[in-house]
Amino acid sequence: MAKRDYYEVLGVGREASDEEVKKAYRRLAVKFHPDKNPGDHAAEEKFKELGEAYEALSDPQKRVAYDQYGHAAFDPRARAGRGFGGFGGAFHDPFEIFREVFGGGGGIFESIFGAQDPLAPQRGEDLRYDLELTLEEAALGCDKEIAVTKLDRCETCGGTGMEHGSKMRTCSMCRGRGQVLAARGIFSIAQTCPQCRGAGRILEKPCKACHGAGKRQRSSKIKLRIPPGVDTGSRLRSSGNGEAGFRGGPPGDLYVVLHVREHEIFQRDGDDLLCEVPVSFFQAALGAEIEVPTLEGKATIKIAPGTQPGTLFRVKGRGIKNLHGHGHGDLHVKIQVEVPTHLTSEQKAKLQEFAALCNGQETPASRSFFEKARKFFR
Ligand SMILES: [Zn+2]
Ligand SMILES: [Zn+2]
Repeated sequence: MAKRDYYEVLGVGREASDEEVKKAYRRLAVKFHPDKNPGDHAAEEKFKELGEAYEALSDPQKRVAYDQYGHAAFDPRARAGRGFGGFGGAFHDPFEIFREVFGGGGGIFESIFGAQDPLAPQRGEDLRYDLELTLEEAALGCDKEIAVTKLDRCETCGGTGMEHGSKMRTCSMCRGRGQVLAARGIFSIAQTCPQCRGAGRILEKPCKACHGAGKRQRSSKIKLRIPPGVDTGSRLRSSGNGEAGFRGGPPGDLYVVLHVREHEIFQRDGDDLLCEVPVSFFQAALGAEIEVPTLEGKATIKIAPGTQPGTLFRVKGRGIKNLHGHGHGDLHVKIQVEVPTHLTSEQKAKLQEFAALCNGQETPASRSFFEKARKFFR
């Protein structure tokens, strides 16, 4: 039985968001779950099919591959020997563009469907662009303009590869068959025609500007809107901004892979932020109100007298806005207690006086520690 289209299985359109895919899957998975349909073979098959479709469409990398190559994208025979690892690799120079997101040339199509007609319309290559963002840009969203050097449609010939008014003519060497017979001893072997490279037709007058390719290298500026909440590894698709199609084929897409730089103050954990804030020994001992930084301005937190190093405070909703619209993360503030240094002789004397006053007074942490450590001191 032929495999059904994954989008059809989930009942969503090709432009469905990740969230819509997830919702559709949940709804159908509940309906066809084997526990709900005991002994129903058809439901069981549907449930399996759903799982497979969801696995492919919920993973951005797999979805891109599926959108482009259909079920062949996951067929090990079709993939053999091909570099599918274009995504998710190491971080590259942010202004480098990758031509081999899915390998160059018609590779996968050739391996499945046989050699392509070199004069037929071809879809342009997808391109990958690695873009570095600051944490603020990733958290709050931003507009970016990137310069991409890529193959665009040749303006002279409008992408046809031919001079205006000229035509294609049948190849004289193979008479349009695309193949010629070559003698090898007593055998004749069919070979791809060297004159038309298998197309059977040749351009009467190739465009002088692009030499028949229909596209030329050009640098273009592309505006991107980065939504708030993106993280390292998030991918944006700029539809139609890949390389120009070949001989009237549609253009490819541009995939922008995001990399978020480390921040001086904040560490990110999903939608939450962590920030370590130093407070003085006196503030920790006496309690205080302290100002803490957030991505947007300051916030105030109250620390109780006797606050210990490492204590965490949560500033609700001051983390990062969730990319899929599930509210905001929190900011976690970790207290660092700073021990005073470079004491003057007067300060030292007062502190010694203070220490004498504290003599014999146990603190909770040291009591529990010395209880546990007693056996080592025997
Ligand atoms: Zn041209
Ligand atoms: Zn030929």
